[in-house]
Amino acid sequence: MIDFLKLKEIILDNNSFLITTHVNPDADAIGSEVAFYYILKKLRKKAYIINHSKTPYNLEFLNEGNIIYQYDANVHKSLFDKVDVLVALDFNRANRVVSMEQPFRDSKKIKICIDHHQSPEDFVDYIFLDTDYCATGHIIFDFIKQTSIVNLDLQIANPIYAAIMTDTGSFRFERTTSEVHRIVAELLDLGVSPWEIYDQLYDRSKFSKIRLLGRALDSVKLEAENKIGYMTITQKDFDELGAFESDTENFVNYNLSVENVVLGILFIELKNGFKVSFRSKGDIPVNLLAKEFGGGGHINASGARFFTNNMQEMIPVILSKAKSYLK
Ligand code: 5GP
Ligand code: MN
Repeated sequence: MIDFLKLKEIILDNNSFLITTHVNPDADAIGSEVAFYYILKKLRKKAYIINHSKTPYNLEFLNEGNIIYQYDANVHKSLFDKVDVLVALDFNRANRVVSMEQPFRDSKKIKICIDHHQSPEDFVDYIFLDTDYCATGHIIFDFIKQTSIVNLDLQIANPIYAAIMTDTGSFRFERTTSEVHRIVAELLDLGVSPWEIYDQLYDRSKFSKIRLLGRALDSVKLEAENKIGYMTITQKDFDELGAFESDTENFVNYNLSVENVVLGILFIELKNGFKVSFRSKGDIPVNLLAKEFGGGGHINASGARFFTNNMQEMIPVILSKAKSYLK
């Protein structure tokens, strides 16, 4: 059980807040930040949303009034010692904020984390975490309902809907419960328009992204008696198509759409190093697999980043580790 009263007390007792989320943010990350920002604004608090990554273009609709800033040490570093509270949303390890990790760690201010991922690091003063939640946005919804800290209105309902919709894979992943649907019903009653949010999130892709998806699909290979499906995207692909890392969101799931595949992997070559995403069906704990490489995540969705440029050499090593999780 999350101690929502403690969270409410921290908010009411303080005046200024720096909100942040993980690198390469998804709609749960940005949606939770925006919802939390509006809670604070309704309470007339000072709030800043500052992220390591630029906001992906398909999430810009949540950033009305340009309230989200990309971290610039020259401009924002001093905030870490100026605000009363640092708020970490949708992640629980400090290295997930990359360029903001050190100032986050060094700050002497109150630090809180609200999250639904496994294996948190001890990096904040107060952690509000429960892995049963389908999204961090879901936690924020419950927080508002249980404490009545502010009125739930459309301004807050929209980002929460985007958070829950995307983190449940459009209401199909395991944590899509009847309760989630009841929450969504309430959000719709407040005026949320599902088709418009879906359209903003998924149906305005740059052509370069769709062409990148084509390359990723073309690269799919099967291993381990077709139980593992993996795809590879190289820097050459990005360069030739003018596509970006953020364009690869959800690509990894296509591996799991192949019959018999229960473990999907996406290898993405970055400018500095590479990134691996893991997805699984059933009880294959890809969070533990990712952890072997210094990453983390949930039982069915995880990832890890490597700061070395030897992706092609590491692919067989990672595949071999992955096989040991098939039982
Ligand atoms: P994705 O594959 O979509 O980037 O990430 C899936 C999940 O894995 C995310 O929700 C996140 O929790 C986790 N994850 C991805 N990359 C990393 C990483 O480098 N470190 C950790 N700790 N978790 C990661
Ligand atoms: Mn999330």
